[in-house]
Amino acid sequence: MDLKLFDTHCHIQFAQFDADRDAVLARMVEKKMGAVVVGTDLASSQVAVELARQHDFLWVSVGLHPTDSHGGVFDEDAFAELAKDPKVVAIGECGLDYFRIAEADKERAKKTQTDILRPQIELSIKVKKPMMIHCRDAHEDLLPMVEQYKRENSDGLQVIMHFFTGTAELARKCLALGCYLSFPGPITFTDMYDESIIATPMDKILSETDSPFAAPAEHRGRRNEPAYVEEVVTKLALLRKVSQEEMSAQVVANAKKVFGI
Ligand SMILES: [Zn+2]
Repeated sequence: MDLKLFDTHCHIQFAQFDADRDAVLARMVEKKMGAVVVGTDLASSQVAVELARQHDFLWVSVGLHPTDSHGGVFDEDAFAELAKDPKVVAIGECGLDYFRIAEADKERAKKTQTDILRPQIELSIKVKKPMMIHCRDAHEDLLPMVEQYKRENSDGLQVIMHFFTGTAELARKCLALGCYLSFPGPITFTDMYDESIIATPMDKILSETDSPFAAPAEHRGRRNEPAYVEEVVTKLALLRKVSQEEMSAQVVANAKKVFGI
């Protein structure tokens, strides 16, 4: 499929799009873009699959989010069944998130989140579909886990670090493990991540919105949507000193490669 842009991570199945989802999808068609609709629990993963079946430019990631996990039970059988669907191209949104967790609760939260994450890593390896990782303030635990699984499964654990907004040093650590880094809207209104973007090889860069959240500069403070990924690509192109067309083609090629589409 000839795609001009790619949003690696959006949540257009969420209620924030119920009133005008068709218009949002029409703007995606206008941009000739593709996108991965990401589930954060079983229900939102199932809805994402239903949605993607109706549109050839949509694919899906199915998983259980570390903090929006509603009691923290990962239904292995249900997710394994869903992961077989040809529209499903990744496992997640899953990962570790210690942001705003009180020190006293940290050990318990770590255990709960790790218990949910491990079966998702194992599912990813089993179905040979990459991980869509959410990691916030928890890289010191997440990266060693990724490293261990990679070591034990030589033929493949592919990892996408979704919403990468870390330092160049952290970027290098992730890249050393072969991860893809997916850059979101906030790169457009700060220079804080410029160094990380410059440190990332062209073939490891992905673009995303995480819509409805985290709108880029022109739409800051309002609902985000997949079409705005174009602004992310503009900033990436600027930093990498290539044309908008070249940068777009690169992120589309990277997305096609990692998702096998
Ligand atoms: Zn997300």
